[in-house]
Amino acid sequence: MLELRDVQAYYGNIQALKGITLSVQAGEIVTLVGSNGAGKSTTLMTISSVVGVRSGSITFQGRDITKTATDKVVAMGITQVPEGRMIFPALTVLENLRMGGYLRRDKNGLKEDEEKAFTLFPILKERRKQYGGTLSGGEQQMLAIARALMARPKLLLLDEPSLGLAPIIVENIFDVIVQINKEGTTVLLVEQNAQMALQIAHRGYVLETGMVTMSGKASDLLADPKVQAAYLGMD
Ligand code: ATP
Repeated sequence: MLELRDVQAYYGNIQALKGITLSVQAGEIVTLVGSNGAGKSTTLMTISSVVGVRSGSITFQGRDITKTATDKVVAMGITQVPEGRMIFPALTVLENLRMGGYLRRDKNGLKEDEEKAFTLFPILKERRKQYGGTLSGGEQQMLAIARALMARPKLLLLDEPSLGLAPIIVENIFDVIVQINKEGTTVLLVEQNAQMALQIAHRGYVLETGMVTMSGKASDLLADPKVQAAYLGMD
């Protein structure tokens, strides 16, 4: 479904990606794990065209999207939930949700998806008239995911959904990610919480200083002593 070939990207003179090659098949959850600054977020941002690709290529469903503008990438079916959630604090939960479907014209489908979002995250239904800025961190993360789903993405890009959240909330959010995937959305998940991410993913890639250093089935990575020592806090 998605293929990155030898993608290189820079911030000014700093090379953040030194040739990333990876793929995501339809129906998978694929996770990118690695330390701070490894290039995980940048990889997602090159897919969304928020960061430009200096060399290499990105294809989605057989089409070259290396230089496709962000709004067109979204229209093709790739939606990103950025790190830090970026919900609109002065809009209500319901208004935030509706912003996610702004490219769609099918009113009935939108209403249906609103209900679906509230089924996935019942707390958002209770809080639908509350301003986004007054939600807890976990609720904001739920809202950001729910809003992204309103675009009916084929591929959902999630950047650190667990960041700063209590373990119980993280579990709740990861359960929903699994459910979303089971219902047909392919997921590319960036996480510093490698343990949790590899538990729900089918496959994973380990990034270090802008390069892929390991890849494979998530269960194999979880069992790998090098991964355990570096990312799972075991030795
Ligand atoms: P984190 O979990 O901390 O976000 P990451 O693996 O997602 O880590 P990136 O955010 O992709 O890593 O960063 C990759 C490299 O690019 C780092 O060296 C970082 O300092 C640098 N970088 C990221 N954003 C910028 C920016 N806006 N300007 C300059 N350098 C940046």
